[in-house]
Amino acid sequence: MNIPGDDPSDLMNQLLAAGVTLRVDACKRLRMTGDPGALSAELVERVTSAKPRMIKLVRLHQCTACGSREFSDVPIHDAHSLRRDCAKCGRTAGFPRWQPEAD
Ligand SMILES: [Zn+2]
Repeated sequence: MNIPGDDPSDLMNQLLAAGVTLRVDACKRLRMTGDPGALSAELVERVTSAKPRMIKLVRLHQCTACGSREFSDVPIHDAHSLRRDCAKCGRTAGFPRWQPEAD
């Protein structure tokens, strides 16, 4: 079941509150670590349906190259968009906000 508008960062906060952390492995698969029993079946289902978005979000929280969790956000496109770079190795993790065209 795909719940429209399910916010991946909200899901992530619920997982963290349950003591479960997410990471993306070398094959870019989403892994959950912690006690899976702490999660309701409904929550697991929501995470599964939001997987592509969750993977994107996790990658913005941890550098896939060096594992660092420290990032610096760089405004681009006249600050309409935001690029997130790893603070340690400088690798671009992704774009927390992407709006190349001003509206
Ligand atoms: Zn890095």
